[in-house]
Amino acid sequence: MNLAEDARDLFLPAACASCRSAPAAGSGLCPDCAAELTALRPLLAAPLHDAVPVVAAGPYEGTLAHALNEYKERARRELAPAFGALLGRALAVVAEEVPGAVLVPIPPTRAALRARGFDHVAAACAGIPGNAAEIRPCLRALPRPDSVGLTPRQRALAAKRSLRAAPRRTAALAAAGRPVVLVDDVVTTGATLAAAAAALREAGLRVPAAISVAAA
Ligand SMILES: [Zn+2]
Repeated sequence: MNLAEDARDLFLPAACASCRSAPAAGSGLCPDCAAELTALRPLLAAPLHDAVPVVAAGPYEGTLAHALNEYKERARRELAPAFGALLGRALAVVAEEVPGAVLVPIPPTRAALRARGFDHVAAACAGIPGNAAEIRPCLRALPRPDSVGLTPRQRALAAKRSLRAAPRRTAALAAAGRPVVLVDDVVTTGATLAAAAAALREAGLRVPAAISVAAA
């Protein structure tokens, strides 16, 4: 971010969140970039920590990576439905295997929420078309160290300490016998999803799958 970009954002109509050259439609993307996202095919991610199978809507590169960064770092909230549509396609891949599942988004830390101004994963979930699944935010994020510079082992430990299940909400899901599909923005090492799955399993829930917008 720099002064020129900030000034441009103030005085010109929003540029496409991905290519940043063409003007954006209401979706936050130009038609070409929107078409590129629509052409993505879901893939099975293969993270280091594979506590739960993860279907991603696409690889974390190009148009998708640019758009996700703008969504997260510059709070381009108008992109939420585009990511919701992508999550919906990843969900369609796992939905047959896990009927009756509820979606549990990975929550932001309080610091991330403050910096960003919105819960970007929950907002993308809410953009999944057609009420494909219920969203049940039943994880709580605790403060965690910046993962930059940590080894995969240290990241896994930090992730494990940073998420806990909300007791009353998980108890209600467990009593109803509803399985959980976890939702995150980008899966990298899989440490966060593994920690989330562990916390929910300890609370008595089944966590047969996860979906993400992108896989790095
Ligand atoms: Zn574009």
